[in-house]
Amino acid sequence: MDINQITIENADNKDFNRQENMLSASLLSIIVPCYNEKDVLPLFLEAIRPVRAELQSKGCATELLFIDDGSNDGTLGLLREYSTLGENIRYVSFSKNFGKEAAILAGLKNAKGNFCVLLDADLQHPPGLLPKMYDEMINGGFDSVAMYRNDRKKEGFFRRHFSSFFFKLLNRLSKLNLVNGATDFRMMTRTMVDAVLSLPELNRFSKGIFSWVGFNTKWMPFETGERPAGKSKWSFGKLVSYSFDAFLSFSEAPLKLCSWLGIIFCIVSFILGIYHLIKTLIFGDPVAGFPTLYLMMLLMGGIVLLFLGIMGQYLARIYIEIKKRPAYIIKETEKQE
Ligand code: UDP
Ligand code: MG
Repeated sequence: MDINQITIENADNKDFNRQENMLSASLLSIIVPCYNEKDVLPLFLEAIRPVRAELQSKGCATELLFIDDGSNDGTLGLLREYSTLGENIRYVSFSKNFGKEAAILAGLKNAKGNFCVLLDADLQHPPGLLPKMYDEMINGGFDSVAMYRNDRKKEGFFRRHFSSFFFKLLNRLSKLNLVNGATDFRMMTRTMVDAVLSLPELNRFSKGIFSWVGFNTKWMPFETGERPAGKSKWSFGKLVSYSFDAFLSFSEAPLKLCSWLGIIFCIVSFILGIYHLIKTLIFGDPVAGFPTLYLMMLLMGGIVLLFLGIMGQYLARIYIEIKKRPAYIIKETEKQE
Protein backbone atom coordinates (compact mmCIF):
# COMPACT_ATOMS: atom_id res chain seq x y z
CA MET A 1 0.00 0.00 0.00
CA ASP A 2 1.26 3.44 -0.83
CA ILE A 3 1.85 5.41 2.29
CA ASN A 4 1.42 8.65 0.36
CA GLN A 5 -2.29 7.97 0.29
CA ILE A 6 -2.60 8.06 4.03
CA THR A 7 -4.66 11.11 4.73
CA ILE A 8 -7.53 11.85 6.98
CA GLU A 9 -9.75 14.40 5.40
CA ASN A 10 -11.31 15.58 8.59
CA ALA A 11 -8.18 15.48 10.67
CA ASP A 12 -8.98 18.88 12.08
CA ASN A 13 -12.48 18.00 13.03
CA LYS A 14 -12.19 16.98 16.67
CA ASP A 15 -15.66 15.45 16.98
CA PHE A 16 -14.91 13.22 14.07
CA ASN A 17 -11.57 12.22 15.53
CA ARG A 18 -12.86 11.56 18.97
CA GLN A 19 -15.36 8.90 18.08
CA GLU A 20 -13.16 6.10 19.24
CA ASN A 21 -15.53 3.33 18.30
CA MET A 22 -15.30 4.27 14.62
CA LEU A 23 -12.30 2.07 13.91
CA SER A 24 -12.00 3.12 10.30
CA ALA A 25 -11.71 6.72 11.42
CA SER A 26 -8.84 6.10 13.86
CA LEU A 27 -5.95 8.48 13.62
CA LEU A 28 -2.82 7.65 15.56
CA SER A 29 -0.36 10.49 16.22
CA ILE A 30 3.18 9.14 16.46
CA ILE A 31 5.05 11.71 18.56
CA VAL A 32 8.82 11.67 18.21
CA PRO A 33 11.00 14.01 20.32
CA CYS A 34 14.32 14.69 18.56
CA TYR A 35 17.38 16.41 19.90
CA ASN A 36 20.33 16.27 17.52
CA GLU A 37 19.15 13.11 15.80
CA LYS A 38 20.27 13.90 12.24
CA ASP A 39 22.18 10.63 11.91
CA VAL A 40 19.40 8.36 13.08
CA LEU A 41 16.35 10.10 11.53
CA PRO A 42 16.70 8.59 8.02
CA LEU A 43 16.90 5.12 9.60
CA PHE A 44 13.88 5.94 11.77
CA LEU A 45 11.84 7.03 8.75
CA GLU A 46 12.72 3.81 6.89
CA ALA A 47 11.72 1.75 9.91
CA ILE A 48 8.42 3.50 10.55
CA ARG A 49 7.11 3.36 6.95
CA PRO A 50 6.09 -0.35 6.91
CA VAL A 51 4.68 0.02 10.41
CA ARG A 52 2.43 2.87 9.27
CA ALA A 53 1.32 0.81 6.31
CA GLU A 54 0.46 -2.12 8.59
CA LEU A 55 -1.54 0.16 10.88
CA GLN A 56 -3.36 1.61 7.89
CA SER A 57 -4.35 -1.90 6.83
CA LYS A 58 -5.94 -2.31 10.27
CA GLY A 59 -8.02 0.81 9.64
CA CYS A 60 -5.75 3.13 11.61
CA ALA A 61 -4.31 6.09 9.75
CA THR A 62 -1.23 7.72 11.25
CA GLU A 63 0.43 11.09 11.40
CA LEU A 64 4.09 11.49 12.27
CA LEU A 65 4.73 14.45 14.54
CA PHE A 66 8.39 15.25 15.16
CA ILE A 67 9.33 17.65 17.94
CA ASP A 68 12.69 19.24 17.26
CA ASP A 69 13.95 20.13 20.71
CA GLY A 70 16.30 22.91 19.63
CA SER A 71 18.71 20.69 17.68
CA ASN A 72 21.79 22.31 16.21
CA ASP A 73 22.96 19.53 13.93
CA GLY A 74 20.69 19.85 10.89
CA THR A 75 17.81 17.81 12.32
CA LEU A 76 15.42 20.66 11.50
CA GLY A 77 16.53 20.68 7.85
CA LEU A 78 15.68 16.99 7.58
CA LEU A 79 12.28 17.52 9.20
CA ARG A 80 11.46 20.35 6.77
CA GLU A 81 12.28 17.99 3.93
CA TYR A 82 10.21 15.11 5.35
CA SER A 83 7.19 17.36 5.82
CA THR A 84 7.06 17.97 2.09
CA LEU A 85 6.98 14.27 1.17
CA GLY A 86 3.19 14.16 1.39
CA GLU A 87 3.32 11.37 3.97
CA ASN A 88 1.38 13.24 6.64
CA ILE A 89 4.56 14.20 8.46
CA ARG A 90 4.45 17.29 10.67
CA TYR A 91 6.97 18.93 12.92
CA VAL A 92 7.22 21.48 15.68
CA SER A 93 10.58 23.12 16.24
CA PHE A 94 11.63 24.78 19.51
CA SER A 95 13.65 27.98 19.77
CA LYS A 96 16.22 26.17 21.96
CA ASN A 97 16.66 22.93 23.86
CA PHE A 98 13.84 22.72 26.41
CA GLY A 99 14.32 19.06 27.33
CA LYS A 100 12.47 15.86 26.49
CA GLU A 101 9.64 16.53 28.94
CA ALA A 102 8.81 19.79 27.16
CA ALA A 103 8.99 17.98 23.82
CA ILE A 104 6.51 15.36 25.05
CA LEU A 105 4.15 18.11 26.21
CA ALA A 106 4.36 19.92 22.87
CA GLY A 107 3.77 16.64 21.05
CA LEU A 108 0.64 15.81 23.02
CA LYS A 109 -0.65 19.37 22.63
CA ASN A 110 -0.16 19.48 18.88
CA ALA A 111 -1.26 15.94 18.04
CA LYS A 112 -4.49 15.64 16.09
CA GLY A 113 -5.08 11.94 16.57
CA ASN A 114 -7.65 10.20 18.72
CA PHE A 115 -4.76 7.99 19.79
CA CYS A 116 -1.23 9.15 20.58
CA VAL A 117 1.98 7.23 21.01
CA LEU A 118 5.32 8.54 22.30
CA LEU A 119 8.33 7.08 20.54
CA ASP A 120 12.08 7.80 20.78
CA ALA A 121 13.77 8.73 17.52
CA ASP A 122 16.76 6.48 18.14
CA LEU A 123 14.91 3.17 17.46
CA GLN A 124 15.47 2.07 21.05
CA HIS A 125 11.69 1.90 21.28
CA PRO A 126 11.07 -0.60 18.47
CA PRO A 127 8.50 0.95 16.07
CA GLY A 128 7.50 -2.59 15.05
CA LEU A 129 5.62 -2.92 18.35
CA LEU A 130 3.07 -0.22 17.48
CA PRO A 131 0.53 -2.51 15.73
CA LYS A 132 0.62 -4.89 18.71
CA MET A 133 0.07 -1.99 21.10
CA TYR A 134 -2.77 -0.68 18.96
CA ASP A 135 -4.45 -4.11 18.88
CA GLU A 136 -4.16 -4.32 22.62
CA MET A 137 -5.80 -0.89 23.03
CA ILE A 138 -8.69 -1.74 20.72
CA ASN A 139 -9.31 -5.38 21.65
CA GLY A 140 -8.49 -5.08 25.35
CA GLY A 141 -10.40 -1.81 25.71
CA PHE A 142 -7.45 -0.15 27.46
CA ASP A 143 -6.98 3.60 27.80
CA SER A 144 -3.25 3.21 27.62
CA VAL A 145 -0.62 0.64 26.71
CA ALA A 146 2.66 1.37 28.49
CA MET A 147 5.95 -0.36 27.86
CA TYR A 148 8.53 -1.26 30.48
CA ARG A 149 12.07 -2.46 29.88
CA ASN A 150 12.80 -6.00 30.92
CA ASP A 151 16.42 -5.91 29.79
CA ARG A 152 18.01 -3.87 32.52
CA LYS A 153 20.94 -6.31 32.53
CA LYS A 154 22.19 -4.56 29.41
CA GLU A 155 22.72 -1.39 31.41
CA GLY A 156 25.79 -0.78 33.52
CA PHE A 157 25.73 -2.14 37.09
CA PHE A 158 25.62 1.29 38.66
CA ARG A 159 22.89 2.75 36.43
CA ARG A 160 20.70 -0.34 36.76
CA HIS A 161 20.80 -0.36 40.55
CA PHE A 162 20.36 3.40 40.71
CA SER A 163 17.16 3.17 38.58
CA SER A 164 15.61 0.31 40.45
CA PHE A 165 16.37 2.00 43.80
CA PHE A 166 14.82 5.19 42.39
CA PHE A 167 11.58 3.45 41.33
CA LYS A 168 11.23 1.68 44.71
CA LEU A 169 11.90 4.79 46.76
CA LEU A 170 9.60 6.99 44.67
CA ASN A 171 6.72 4.49 44.92
CA ARG A 172 7.19 4.30 48.67
CA LEU A 173 7.48 8.03 49.30
CA SER A 174 4.74 9.19 46.93
CA LYS A 175 1.28 7.93 46.05
CA LEU A 176 2.54 6.83 42.64
CA ASN A 177 2.78 3.25 41.53
CA LEU A 178 5.44 3.09 38.83
CA VAL A 179 6.57 -0.16 37.28
CA ASN A 180 10.32 -0.73 37.54
CA GLY A 181 11.77 -0.03 34.09
CA ALA A 182 8.82 2.19 33.04
CA THR A 183 9.66 4.28 29.98
CA ASP A 184 7.95 7.07 28.05
CA PHE A 185 7.08 4.55 25.31
CA ARG A 186 3.30 4.64 25.67
CA MET A 187 0.10 4.73 23.62
CA MET A 188 -2.91 6.61 24.95
CA THR A 189 -6.48 7.46 23.99
CA ARG A 190 -7.44 11.07 23.38
CA THR A 191 -9.38 11.09 26.67
CA MET A 192 -6.24 10.23 28.60
CA VAL A 193 -4.12 12.71 26.61
CA ASP A 194 -6.60 15.47 27.44
CA ALA A 195 -6.37 14.49 31.12
CA VAL A 196 -2.57 14.67 30.97
CA LEU A 197 -2.78 18.07 29.29
CA SER A 198 -5.15 19.35 31.96
CA LEU A 199 -2.25 19.30 34.45
CA PRO A 200 -0.71 22.74 34.10
CA GLU A 201 2.60 22.20 35.92
CA LEU A 202 5.84 23.26 34.31
CA ASN A 203 8.19 20.89 36.08
CA ARG A 204 6.87 17.83 34.37
CA PHE A 205 7.76 14.29 35.27
CA SER A 206 5.61 12.55 32.65
CA LYS A 207 5.92 9.03 34.02
CA GLY A 208 4.49 10.34 37.28
CA ILE A 209 1.76 12.33 35.52
CA PHE A 210 0.67 9.29 33.47
CA SER A 211 0.36 7.30 36.66
CA TRP A 212 -1.35 10.12 38.57
CA VAL A 213 -4.15 10.67 36.02
CA GLY A 214 -5.17 7.02 36.42
CA PHE A 215 -7.02 5.22 33.58
CA ASN A 216 -6.88 1.60 32.62
CA THR A 217 -3.29 0.81 31.65
CA LYS A 218 -1.86 -2.37 30.21
CA TRP A 219 1.87 -2.88 30.95
CA MET A 220 3.87 -4.76 28.36
CA PRO A 221 7.57 -5.69 28.52
CA PHE A 222 9.95 -4.87 25.69
CA GLU A 223 13.64 -5.08 24.93
CA THR A 224 15.33 -1.84 24.04
CA GLY A 225 17.09 -1.91 20.72
CA GLU A 226 20.63 -0.70 20.21
CA ARG A 227 20.93 2.93 19.18
CA PRO A 228 22.09 2.62 15.54
CA ALA A 229 23.48 6.17 15.26
CA GLY A 230 23.92 9.35 17.26
CA LYS A 231 24.48 9.26 21.01
CA SER A 232 22.41 9.28 24.19
CA LYS A 233 21.66 12.72 25.60
CA TRP A 234 21.47 11.49 29.20
CA SER A 235 24.53 11.71 31.37
CA PHE A 236 24.50 10.27 34.86
CA GLY A 237 24.32 13.81 36.27
CA LYS A 238 21.23 14.58 34.15
CA LEU A 239 19.59 11.36 35.38
CA VAL A 240 20.22 12.31 39.01
CA SER A 241 18.69 15.74 38.51
CA TYR A 242 15.72 14.14 36.69
CA SER A 243 15.19 11.89 39.74
CA PHE A 244 15.22 14.94 42.01
CA ASP A 245 12.54 16.50 39.82
CA ALA A 246 10.45 13.36 40.14
CA PHE A 247 10.68 13.34 43.92
CA LEU A 248 10.02 17.04 44.36
CA SER A 249 7.05 16.93 41.97
CA PHE A 250 5.32 13.94 43.46
CA SER A 251 6.40 13.54 47.05
CA GLU A 252 6.20 15.68 50.16
CA ALA A 253 8.17 13.07 52.08
CA PRO A 254 11.43 15.11 52.22
CA LEU A 255 9.51 18.00 53.79
CA LYS A 256 7.84 15.68 56.29
CA LEU A 257 11.25 14.23 57.09
CA CYS A 258 12.43 17.72 58.09
CA SER A 259 9.58 18.13 60.54
CA TRP A 260 10.02 14.67 62.00
CA LEU A 261 13.75 15.08 62.52
CA GLY A 262 13.09 18.52 64.03
CA ILE A 263 10.64 16.98 66.50
CA ILE A 264 13.04 14.13 67.36
CA PHE A 265 15.90 16.55 67.99
CA CYS A 266 13.69 18.72 70.21
CA ILE A 267 12.69 15.72 72.31
CA VAL A 268 16.29 14.49 72.57
CA SER A 269 17.56 17.91 73.63
CA PHE A 270 14.75 18.24 76.18
CA ILE A 271 15.64 14.86 77.74
CA LEU A 272 19.37 15.74 77.69
CA GLY A 273 18.56 19.07 79.34
CA ILE A 274 16.74 17.36 82.19
CA TYR A 275 19.55 14.82 82.50
CA HIS A 276 22.17 17.58 82.82
CA LEU A 277 20.03 19.55 85.24
CA ILE A 278 19.73 16.58 87.58
CA LYS A 279 23.42 15.71 87.14
CA THR A 280 24.45 19.27 88.00
CA LEU A 281 22.18 19.34 91.04
CA ILE A 282 23.69 16.10 92.37
CA PHE A 283 27.35 16.30 91.25
CA GLY A 284 27.97 20.04 90.74
CA ASP A 285 29.12 21.54 87.45
CA PRO A 286 32.42 20.16 86.14
CA VAL A 287 33.59 21.62 82.78
CA ALA A 288 33.54 18.21 81.16
CA GLY A 289 31.26 17.67 78.16
CA PHE A 290 32.79 20.34 75.95
CA PRO A 291 33.22 17.92 72.97
CA THR A 292 29.57 16.95 73.22
CA LEU A 293 28.70 20.61 73.02
CA TYR A 294 30.53 21.47 69.85
CA LEU A 295 29.68 18.14 68.19
CA MET A 296 26.00 18.80 68.83
CA MET A 297 26.34 22.32 67.46
CA LEU A 298 28.01 21.01 64.32
CA LEU A 299 25.41 18.30 63.86
CA MET A 300 22.48 20.64 64.40
CA GLY A 301 23.98 23.27 62.10
CA GLY A 302 24.45 20.63 59.40
CA ILE A 303 20.93 19.32 59.72
CA VAL A 304 19.39 22.79 59.69
CA LEU A 305 21.34 23.71 56.56
CA LEU A 306 20.42 20.42 54.85
CA PHE A 307 16.73 20.94 55.44
CA LEU A 308 16.83 24.58 54.56
CA GLY A 309 18.27 23.30 51.28
CA ILE A 310 15.37 20.87 50.79
CA MET A 311 12.84 23.61 51.53
CA GLY A 312 14.74 25.84 49.13
CA GLN A 313 14.33 23.24 46.39
CA TYR A 314 10.55 23.22 46.83
CA LEU A 315 10.51 26.98 47.06
CA ALA A 316 12.52 27.32 43.86
CA ARG A 317 9.99 25.13 42.09
CA ILE A 318 7.08 27.16 43.42
CA TYR A 319 8.89 30.26 42.18
CA ILE A 320 9.31 28.79 38.71
CA GLU A 321 5.69 27.60 38.55
CA ILE A 322 4.36 30.95 39.72
CA LYS A 323 6.21 32.83 36.99
CA LYS A 324 4.05 30.87 34.54
CA ARG A 325 6.66 30.83 31.83
CA PRO A 326 5.77 28.56 28.93
CA ALA A 327 7.29 25.07 29.00
CA TYR A 328 8.66 25.68 25.50
CA ILE A 329 8.71 28.24 22.72
CA ILE A 330 7.86 27.19 19.17
CA LYS A 331 9.99 28.76 16.47
CA GLU A 332 8.62 26.98 13.46
CA THR A 333 6.15 24.33 12.32
CA GLU A 334 5.53 22.67 8.98
CA LYS A 335 3.99 24.79 6.25
CA GLN A 336 0.21 24.60 6.33
CA GLU A 337 -1.31 23.56 3.05
N1 UDP B 1 15.55 14.06 23.56
C1 UDP B 1 14.93 15.32 23.47
N2 UDP B 1 15.44 16.36 24.20
C2 UDP B 1 16.52 16.22 25.04
C3 UDP B 1 17.10 14.94 25.14
C4 UDP B 1 16.59 13.89 24.40
O1 UDP B 1 13.96 15.48 22.72
O2 UDP B 1 16.92 17.22 25.65
C5 UDP B 1 15.00 12.94 22.76
C6 UDP B 1 16.04 12.23 21.93
O3 UDP B 1 16.22 12.84 20.68
C7 UDP B 1 15.46 10.83 21.80
C8 UDP B 1 14.73 10.65 23.12
O4 UDP B 1 14.52 11.96 23.65
O5 UDP B 1 14.52 10.72 20.74
C9 UDP B 1 15.52 9.80 24.08
O6 UDP B 1 16.81 10.36 24.25
P1 UDP B 1 18.12 9.49 24.39
O7 UDP B 1 18.16 8.38 23.39
O8 UDP B 1 19.25 10.45 24.39
O9 UDP B 1 17.93 8.89 25.86
P2 UDP B 1 18.22 7.40 26.38
O10 UDP B 1 17.61 6.45 25.39
O11 UDP B 1 19.69 7.29 26.44
O12 UDP B 1 17.54 7.36 27.71
MG1 MG C 1 17.82 6.40 23.49
